[in-house]
Amino acid sequence: MSDKKGRLFIISSPSGGGKGTVIGHIMDTEPELSLSISATTRKPREGEEHGVSYYFITKEQFEELAESGAFLEHAKYIDEYYGTPKSPIDDCIYYGRDVLLEIEVQGARQVMEQYPEAISVFIVPPDMQTLENRLRGRRTESEDKLKARLDTARTELEEKIHYNHVVVNDDAKRAAEEIMEIINKSKGEI
Ligand code: ADP
Ligand code: 5GP
Repeated sequence: MSDKKGRLFIISSPSGGGKGTVIGHIMDTEPELSLSISATTRKPREGEEHGVSYYFITKEQFEELAESGAFLEHAKYIDEYYGTPKSPIDDCIYYGRDVLLEIEVQGARQVMEQYPEAISVFIVPPDMQTLENRLRGRRTESEDKLKARLDTARTELEEKIHYNHVVVNDDAKRAAEEIMEIINKSKGEI
């Protein structure tokens, strides 16, 4: 056990809000931070690697893991399952490593309940049209999936009031700097 416990940082946003991009900048400049690798039942996108982007598993595997209590939190997002493996997070906390959880709003609520001291950040797009343009520009979703993600985004945005901080992703590097400031400022607080 380390002198200090690792801290949890939750980062959420609607799909296309820029989590991946902003977190990429954060991880480039904060090498001591760990990034939690989630499990999901969705299919890998081009360039995504098992064990790096996600653990890509089947619905049956997911359900078994969920039942055995292997997830810190888990949620159904549109028609796929996503969950945070619990034991790596327990290890980070025990060994004093701060860890980022990039998760959607239902899972974030579960983590906030278990760890009220976790610091939460909700990334918002400058406006809905920009969100749609960015999500379309990424070219990873079919038209149906894109529409479902944008519909879900409207209700997800209402959840931002439950987060400690709201950061606008106007410029991704600037947003990353704002979040790093939040992370570094909180060092003395928890
Ligand atoms: P998320 O991980 O939240 O789904 P991404 O990081 O994949 O979002 O961002 C969605 C798309 O928007 C990507 O193609 C990304 O390159 C682009 N993007 C993200 N942030 C910005 C920004 N500040 N300005 C312009 N484009 C951005
Ligand atoms: P995507 O399919 O775009 O990678 O992710 C869809 C949504 O699921 C995003 O909002 C992303 O943050 C969220 N997500 C990714 N991993 C997890 C997880 O482990 N748990 C929860 N609850 N959401 C996750």
